[in-house]
Amino acid sequence: MKKILVIAEIFQGRVRQVTWELAATAREIQTGFSEKQPLPGIQIPSITIIVPSNNPKPLAKKIAEQTGMDVIGLLIPGLKIYTSEIYITCLGQGIRKLDPSHILVAHTSQGRDFAPGLSLELDAVAIPSVNGIRFDKKGLICLRPVFDNTKNMLVRPVSDRPLLLTLMPGAFKPDIQKNRKPGCVDIQMSSFKPVAGGKPCIHHRQILKRPGENQALKAAKIIVAAGRGLGEKENLQLIFTFAKHFSSSAVGASRPLVDMGWIGYEHQVGITGASVAPDVYIACGISGSSQHIAGMENAKFVISINKNPAAPIFRHSDICITEDVLEFIQIFLNLIDTIEPV
Ligand SMILES: Cc1cc2nc3c(=O)[nH]c(=O)nc-3n(C[C@H](O)[C@H](O)[C@H](O)COP(=O)(O)OP(=O)(O)OC[C@H]3O[C@@H](n4cnc5c(N)ncnc54)[C@H](O)[C@@H]3O)c2cc1C
Repeated sequence: MKKILVIAEIFQGRVRQVTWELAATAREIQTGFSEKQPLPGIQIPSITIIVPSNNPKPLAKKIAEQTGMDVIGLLIPGLKIYTSEIYITCLGQGIRKLDPSHILVAHTSQGRDFAPGLSLELDAVAIPSVNGIRFDKKGLICLRPVFDNTKNMLVRPVSDRPLLLTLMPGAFKPDIQKNRKPGCVDIQMSSFKPVAGGKPCIHHRQILKRPGENQALKAAKIIVAAGRGLGEKENLQLIFTFAKHFSSSAVGASRPLVDMGWIGYEHQVGITGASVAPDVYIACGISGSSQHIAGMENAKFVISINKNPAAPIFRHSDICITEDVLEFIQIFLNLIDTIEPV
């Protein structure tokens, strides 16, 4: 029987958004096997979400309610801060007896850290940084970025060994629905026994703020973020002027602008920049790569201005403005200037 396992991403006692994306992808894989291309002899996989934590019960309950999927809370006493060693050992023990066909892990700093070791532990075949999946007559195909993220490669798993996929945050639509029939919650004990001389090899002690982390960006209620669509460095001034019209605002940027030296790293939003959660995120000339989405996925309301109606950022936006960003902002600023203050 095929079984899809999702490893929930827990950070500082909270379920991270990417967990809902992993759950959605698990459902997509399940549907792919059952409906899209039914093949003789192919069974419909079941889905189970695993929650590693020193207090998994409330987290497991929340996940079971929001996804409607069965959840195993893997109780690891003493797991105060994530460590790859404990994750690999305890998840390895817990997962091996479940005999899964697919294991889904987030391609985050945490997932990227433990997934290779877990693959080895489970003798699994790994496909990292998956940003899309498809089904054809022969079954599942994964898409992953290659050549500095300029192209996608199609990868077909052809082994009978368990398949471990790390999924890019922001690349899959999350699966959250209210009033679902909750899945079952089962709490299982796991214990970490260090192998190297009876002591853990790594001791994770503390989580520190990164130097240069932009507190203004973190604290802002409205973030106006600039992307390569601005065309020239000089046009950034327009973004700063635009942002000043909102109280509690800050300017964010996509990575190419930082790489080109247009703006400091402390403005970068994304998987290798800041993670932000403002009330409103205004993406100006940003395409919506999964690496950028990973940093702004928790924004409450997203407005995007992009001249390409097919820009991926629109899939993550509440308001989509298909316009030239410079013209749009200039018209907005001219309009604001004509309004008499009340
Ligand atoms: C390991 C790794 C880590 C990364 N980390 C990050 C990260 O933390 N943050 C990040 O942002 N990126 C990151 N990237 C880069 C990421 O993959 C993308 O290349 C980047 O996000 C694209 O930035 P962009 O949207 O500004 O530019 P582009 O992808 O070039 O998009 C520009 C957009 O502007 C639109 N446009 C062009 N002209 C106009 C106009 N006049 N008016 C309106 N719209 C216009 C275009 O239609 C296009 O959609 C990372 C990449 C890798 C490989």
